[in-house]
Amino acid sequence: MARRRLTDQQRNRIAKIQAERRERVSARAEAALHQAEPDLPQRGQVVARHGQNLVVATSAGDLVHCLFRANLNDVVCGDQVVWQPSSPGEGVVTAVEERRSVLARPDYSGRPKAIAANVTQLVVVIAPRPEPAGYLVDQYLVAAELAGMQVLLTLNKSDLLDAPALHAFRERFALYPAIGYPWVEVSAKREHGLDPLIAHLRDATSILVGQSGVGKSSLINALIPDQDVQVGRLSKATGLGRHTTSTATLYQLPTGGELIDSPGVRSFRLGHIERQELERGFRDFRPYLGHCAFRNCRHESEPGCAILAAVADGAIHPARLATFRSLAESLAS
Ligand code: GDP
Ligand code: ZN
Repeated sequence: MARRRLTDQQRNRIAKIQAERRERVSARAEAALHQAEPDLPQRGQVVARHGQNLVVATSAGDLVHCLFRANLNDVVCGDQVVWQPSSPGEGVVTAVEERRSVLARPDYSGRPKAIAANVTQLVVVIAPRPEPAGYLVDQYLVAAELAGMQVLLTLNKSDLLDAPALHAFRERFALYPAIGYPWVEVSAKREHGLDPLIAHLRDATSILVGQSGVGKSSLINALIPDQDVQVGRLSKATGLGRHTTSTATLYQLPTGGELIDSPGVRSFRLGHIERQELERGFRDFRPYLGHCAFRNCRHESEPGCAILAAVADGAIHPARLATFRSLAESLAS
């Protein structure tokens, strides 16, 4: 995605404004902590963040409006936290628990900025229309591997395909289930059309991604029929109004599981990554990495290349090597 280039001066100004805002809010957080009853610290989960304001779900399922201490610069949706009550319905987050995974995007200065934590499953949505864009699925797979998330490949709009067309689509993507990425076929337009997806969402914290038009909003609307009610509860908790946007919001699925929705993440692209990271993002390459004769092997035509040998043996699909080479050219230095 094209990013507007900022001058150093603009960047410094933004950084200064952000630092000042953080200071003001953390002073409020410290004041609130002083008033706090010496209640036992409690655990909770961040379900939304509006600027420096958090909505934390308690273990009892109540929502609390929390500020957070200045040393916790980076608290995001999905974080498991420790918080201390300060007044009814309010509290201060004092610690963030170690994350299982982090989903990040480059910020205004190009540094990765966390958007959601502890996402366990990236649901990669494709559809017959729009036609899957070259290598986008592969980019999501790499991102998921590097961020420590599982992947669910989801073909939406299956209602648009007759049996032979559906078969052809399945064949075209068959190499992914073969390397361990589960595949489901759904339709947001058919009754019970989402059942296979719902089953995979049950025990996970998921996030949906995919190119524009594949049906992500339709799926989310169908999966969270009470989204309005949930959003209403969130804005009531903070008193900030319904239209204050959160970069990411965690919803409870009535059918089980959690879904984080983040408009900015729905169609994210991989940024620049180093070649070695890209290699690690190809899960079928992993058993062979480090086994090439040359340490800096580019897996082109080097003698003793373990990846080329694995392709020759049929252990790695040739299409995956071709994809790797294309991505390496476009993403890595
Ligand atoms: P998004 O850009 O990924 O959020 O896609 P949308 O949810 O906005 O859907 C794009 C278009 O596809 C809309 O016109 C939807 O009505 C349509 N659509 C979504 N899911 C399905 C489906 O399962 N079958 C069919 N036939 N159309 C769908
Ligand atoms: Zn090699």
